[in-house]
Amino acid sequence: MERLGLVRDIDLALHLPLRYEDETQLQPIAHTRDGQTAQVEGVVREAQVELRSRRQLVVRLADDSGEITLRFLNFYPSHQKVLARSQRVRVRGEVRGGFLGREMVHPTFKAVEPGAPLPAALTPVYPSSAQLPQVYLRKAITSALGRAPLDEVLPPAAVPSGLPPLKEAVRLLHQPPPGLPLATLEDRSHPAWQRLKFEELLAQQLAQAQAMAARERLRAPVLAGMPREAQDTHGPSPLSLHTRLQAALPFALTGAQARVCGEIDADLARPVPMHRLLQGDVGSGKTVVAALAAARAIDAGWQCALMAPTEILAEQHFHKLVQWLQPLGITVAWLTGSRKGKARQAMLAQIASGEAGLVVGTHAVIQDDVVFARLGLAVVDEQHRFGVAQRLELRHKLVETAGDAAADAARPSKAAAGPRLEPHLLTMSATPIPRTLAMTYFADLAVSTLDELPPGRTPIVTKVFADSKREQVIARIRDELQQGRQVYWVCPLIEESESLDLQNATETHAQLSAVLGAALPGCQVGLLHGRMPAGEKAAVMAEFSSGRMGVLVATTVIEVGVDVPNASLMVIEHAERFGLAQLHQLRGRVGRGSAASVCVLLYTGPLSDTGKSRLRAMAETTDGFEIARRDLQIRGPGEFMGARQSGADLLRFADLNGDTGLLEQARRVAPRLMAEHPAAARAHVARWLSTKAEYLKA
Ligand code: ADP
Ligand code: MG
Repeated sequence: MERLGLVRDIDLALHLPLRYEDETQLQPIAHTRDGQTAQVEGVVREAQVELRSRRQLVVRLADDSGEITLRFLNFYPSHQKVLARSQRVRVRGEVRGGFLGREMVHPTFKAVEPGAPLPAALTPVYPSSAQLPQVYLRKAITSALGRAPLDEVLPPAAVPSGLPPLKEAVRLLHQPPPGLPLATLEDRSHPAWQRLKFEELLAQQLAQAQAMAARERLRAPVLAGMPREAQDTHGPSPLSLHTRLQAALPFALTGAQARVCGEIDADLARPVPMHRLLQGDVGSGKTVVAALAAARAIDAGWQCALMAPTEILAEQHFHKLVQWLQPLGITVAWLTGSRKGKARQAMLAQIASGEAGLVVGTHAVIQDDVVFARLGLAVVDEQHRFGVAQRLELRHKLVETAGDAAADAARPSKAAAGPRLEPHLLTMSATPIPRTLAMTYFADLAVSTLDELPPGRTPIVTKVFADSKREQVIARIRDELQQGRQVYWVCPLIEESESLDLQNATETHAQLSAVLGAALPGCQVGLLHGRMPAGEKAAVMAEFSSGRMGVLVATTVIEVGVDVPNASLMVIEHAERFGLAQLHQLRGRVGRGSAASVCVLLYTGPLSDTGKSRLRAMAETTDGFEIARRDLQIRGPGEFMGARQSGADLLRFADLNGDTGLLEQARRVAPRLMAEHPAAARAHVARWLSTKAEYLKA
């Protein structure tokens, strides 16, 4: 029971049935139909163990109307005792109208006295595990129901009209009276269910609001303007890094970028930690927004950490940012797992002394043993790749690594102990959060959206071909190379087997090298996969980025963030094995320059109907938000959250697709409840979320 989270009486009371069994009635055996679940009662005429293909217990049961065969493949002597000849038993199970008469396989059964009363209520079936029998759980829940504190904590005005009191609702769901239409219980539309869902959604809204209020009380450095020392220097007042960076960029910001930068600047100028998500389709230009935010931090005399999920991506960011910031006199430190020994020590020293204004690396590395002098801003790229638990951990770590040092730095002397300062947090994602999720799990998050691509992009054309067209596709690659363009060839991830994965990529690499090498002497075909040492990966990536390498065969390691504008063709092999969002991310690696770009999705048939429509969706739209919407439909929000076990668990009863009406009501009620009945709000959250509230902060 503890493993199922059933510890307190209230936990048991809120452990609601999955479905019900109607044991309130008996059916004459002769009236039962094939496929129906029925309860019958009769006397055992005959019981014997037969040795057919498998040893089995076969029991003939009869009532006044007819006979039925009960068949058990697993049975114990205790079962045989109950099911012995002349015994009266009540059995329940699915009826099969076999050729040789009616039959039930593994029905439930119990011995009864003649005329034993039938239960008055429907029998609940609870979510359980193999080790916890229903009978036991039912008893525990019934007794807990008597004790569980289910008194109303909400003022009546807070509850939508037409919904029953909580205690009544819970009792009804555990012990529905006979005659109640089961359908409204099972599809959870009954007012009793509505009441519980509302309670749960309200608790979540309150917890979010509390988290937000708690964050408002935290302190963060104000990242606006320049520190006094810089302003005090004589002579012409120096331009801020922010201004100089913007002037040095080889392009003007799009309208969307400018707007989003303004939103971020406004947050950074407040002494409260920012908690903002920047969502923007692949290629919408999130990196430069992050760089400008970093410039704000550096201008104000603080450090910025930029974290990417993979080494390759971290490296790409590093090069881009070095290219932008180094000429402006900023030291950019670079931490990846492959940086070891002296080089790493030197970087760590630069970070600890504050010399490095910007630190770029993978999450793992930045979390490890890095001490910042004054971390003012943390940027997390591609945050959708991480689960709720990981995001939480990162947040804790950031506060730990930055908190003490930053607070010390902010204090001119120990005597004037200032508040502990937390860094601002900006997360970036190419996968937009659907509205209902934004209203529930991410209500504590401010969202900025880049809804405009930089100008001069030619939309990517996506084509879907069977793998039998492989040779034509390779011919197309040759044309592309002849025009000086570059090509990605992506091999699928085979989840069960990393080595198969590799074999496939290696074979494709050999094939392309042979064919293209013969046609175009000097053509370089590279191979990139997850098992390569980081140094080798970096070398291959550098060759491709420089344009010397024409074709890059890769497993999905290139999925995120790689930016080579000269690449104009991407072939994705076994496209049917990828998720839509993943295909979209991959596809976003081309179409980054001005050349018209093509993405070829190769599939190995035969495809199912959904498989076909999925690939068709990719060809039909290049709008990442639309694709995310379709992907969510297919995969469900649990998957989206990246943490079924924690995130999705938060909502046990409500369903984000079906219960938007209740969600809206909970959202309306929550702020008023907090303001007018703070004690009731706290009691409600404690009852519903207790330990889970922590996850909402991720
Ligand atoms: P993503 O949002 O996918 O991370 P990037 O930040 O990698 O996108 O940007 C994609 C490409 O667009 C990069 O080459 C970047 O330099 C370029 N870019 C970004 N903003 C602009 C702009 N306003 N005008 C032109 N090119 C831009
Ligand atoms: Mg990016």
